[in-house]
Amino acid sequence: MMRAFGGRAFDVSERAQPLRRRAVLVLVLFALASSCHRAPHAQRQVAATVFPLYDIAQRVAGDRLQVRLILQPGLDPHEYEPRPHDIAGLADADLIFAVGLGLDPWAQRLARAAGAGEARVFEIGPLMDPILAPAGVVRKEPLVDAHFWTDPIRALRAVDVTVEALSNLDPGGGPFYRERGQELRRSIEVVHAGILRGAATWRRRRIVTFHGSLFYFAARYGIEVVGVVQPVPGAEPPPQHITAITALLRGPDAAALFSEPQLDPQLARALARETGAVVHEVDPMGGAPRAASYEELVRRIAHAMDEALR
Ligand SMILES: [Zn+2]
Repeated sequence: MMRAFGGRAFDVSERAQPLRRRAVLVLVLFALASSCHRAPHAQRQVAATVFPLYDIAQRVAGDRLQVRLILQPGLDPHEYEPRPHDIAGLADADLIFAVGLGLDPWAQRLARAAGAGEARVFEIGPLMDPILAPAGVVRKEPLVDAHFWTDPIRALRAVDVTVEALSNLDPGGGPFYRERGQELRRSIEVVHAGILRGAATWRRRRIVTFHGSLFYFAARYGIEVVGVVQPVPGAEPPPQHITAITALLRGPDAAALFSEPQLDPQLARALARETGAVVHEVDPMGGAPRAASYEELVRRIAHAMDEALR
């Protein structure tokens, strides 16, 4: 804005300008103020790396802030390579919500490239009491699961953290954000209560997920992730790992097998052919038309469990 309109902005002191020109100048000044100096009522911009954070942020922000999703639904954050237009869209971001915990390390790079600065990246994951996947389930050593939002109780905490962050950014909006945050909390609590009722009917309690994405959901609702098909995102698992997973999918206490829409289904299908297991699909990321809100995201995970575990 400064570069495009800088020359004209000085004209504002001229006397007796035609009214229309003056109106244009007022608009230009307003744009300058909002992009450089932040007039008190200018709309601030916020971005979020992945859908669950985006949905929480935009639900809390309402129409007071512009909220932008960086990673489009259907893409895998672990293997994401930001594109030039992602960078361009972040130049004016005041705050970028990221998960951290190794899920979206590209957020820092993007913010730097956009000139937004690392200080504006706010990683929520470390504040969410991260869970370690036990040694031997994903990799030999314990590994942190970054997908905290699959636990609705942690999502409630993420709502509070978001309310606080947005209130710091835009203090005048504090009461507005708090009220919207409360509304979202109530809605998430209803979903959680529904999942608890459903979980009481699950007879099977062991699952194999495609990647290490459901430890929080499992811990919250009393099931156990006993294996992960692809321990390193995007990498072919070693043969001995596949053998171990195959064993988990067989026998009277066979674990239920889940694939994920963001990831290549070939491997899960091959495992199913080999063992006779049924492949269920679960989407831990959300944002697709049928999971267009945070609540819908987590409700659909629960539906997938209902089908697989009853
Ligand atoms: Zn993931």
